[in-house]
Amino acid sequence: MTRFDHEYPEIREAIRDLCADFPATYFREIDERRAYPEAFVDALTKAGWLAALIPQEYGGSGLSLVEASVIMEEINRSGGNSAACHGQMYNMGTLLRHGSAEQKASYLPKIASGELRLQSMGVTEPTTGTDTTRIKTTAVRKGDRYIVNGQKVWISRVQHSDLMILLARTTPLAEVTKKSEGMSIFIVDLRDAVGNGLDVRPIRNMVNHETNELFFENLEIPAENLIGEEGKGFKYILDGLNAERALIAAECIGDGYWFIDKVMRYAKERIVFGRPIGQNQGVQFPIAKAYVNVEAASLMRYKACELFDAGKPCGAEANMAKMLAADASWEAANACLQFHGGFGFAADYDVERKFRETRLYQVAPISTNLILSYIAEHVLDLPRSF
Ligand SMILES: Cc1cc2nc3c(=O)[nH]c(=O)nc-3n(C[C@H](O)[C@H](O)[C@H](O)COP(=O)(O)OP(=O)(O)OC[C@H]3O[C@@H](n4cnc5c(N)ncnc54)[C@H](O)[C@@H]3O)c2cc1C
Repeated sequence: MTRFDHEYPEIREAIRDLCADFPATYFREIDERRAYPEAFVDALTKAGWLAALIPQEYGGSGLSLVEASVIMEEINRSGGNSAACHGQMYNMGTLLRHGSAEQKASYLPKIASGELRLQSMGVTEPTTGTDTTRIKTTAVRKGDRYIVNGQKVWISRVQHSDLMILLARTTPLAEVTKKSEGMSIFIVDLRDAVGNGLDVRPIRNMVNHETNELFFENLEIPAENLIGEEGKGFKYILDGLNAERALIAAECIGDGYWFIDKVMRYAKERIVFGRPIGQNQGVQFPIAKAYVNVEAASLMRYKACELFDAGKPCGAEANMAKMLAADASWEAANACLQFHGGFGFAADYDVERKFRETRLYQVAPISTNLILSYIAEHVLDLPRSF
């Protein structure tokens, strides 16, 4: 359907084969029960796909970000939802880039094999939202431990993770010269922490997405679980965002193709007024427009990934890819729902489920407005608004 279908055919075919064992009925049933797609995540892990970005020396497959993005695209294009496990692919990037040799040697091989799941990253807080430098969760050093107090919200996959990357303030905001300083990141071993200073409360939400409120009360973390230098955590988190943005863009592109495939087939089959609805230009044009935008977003995704793989700056491209792809998949979702008429609302058609799932990407992991603000101020050099 698209020229990139011919790129990375082995990866595409392998993911399609794996996903064929998890058809729409599987995800529909999991969605209805608000359950976790354990068997699907296990299959991806065992086949090594979630270790795509871990270098071979640590037991991963050392693939490029372009290839990793094709994996995510194909999962969503097959009707699945990478959000159940995408953290396992990219959260380890912080450890890989900034962890000590001991930390990398002790965690990465186990993450690559799936023995340990590092699916969670705790950044967002209820009272500060996107204004991350104002986070109130603190980590105070006492001897060989840090003591963590505070609260996080919307922290995903905690119940299906062994480890979590946590961002906390180690120096009060009032005592730093730059507001982005004084925050640090830690590896939290959730197996020890939950029930011992960390309370996890699930948030029921619009999609079948395991996400939680976290309450920290004197949680003790061994000092050796600090990643990199104390006070540099915000910069470390930012370093990882470009890969995350590009991978989420790829998921939206997969969703976009799924919606277009689905509505194309339906528009050819559904006969109203004695002809297929797809024969009407009023039906054709929104579908064609969504396709154009998914294709354009895909090009920007490849550009962002290629720059990243070449070690070049890609903040603008990764953010633009994420925004274009989220917009295009949402446009495709709307066309797909609209032209299924009433049937678009029936769970058995899967359109309403995918519609809910792809809507998330207008808000998380970064909202469209904040991407526009980044482009306006950091790319176009317009005056800072905050
Ligand atoms: C299902 C789900 C899973 C998530 N998983 C995780 C996770 O695993 N880890 C994690 O740390 N976080 C997670 N998040 C949080 C997510 O990253 C945030 O919800 C998102 O970044 C937006 O932050 P907020 O909800 O605090 O919105 P706010 O910051 O309160 O913003 C609300 C709205 O106002 C707009 N806005 C705010 N300031 C401005 C401005 N200056 N100019 C223009 N518009 C503005 C925003 O664009 C947004 O639309 C998740 C969220 C959801 C819904």
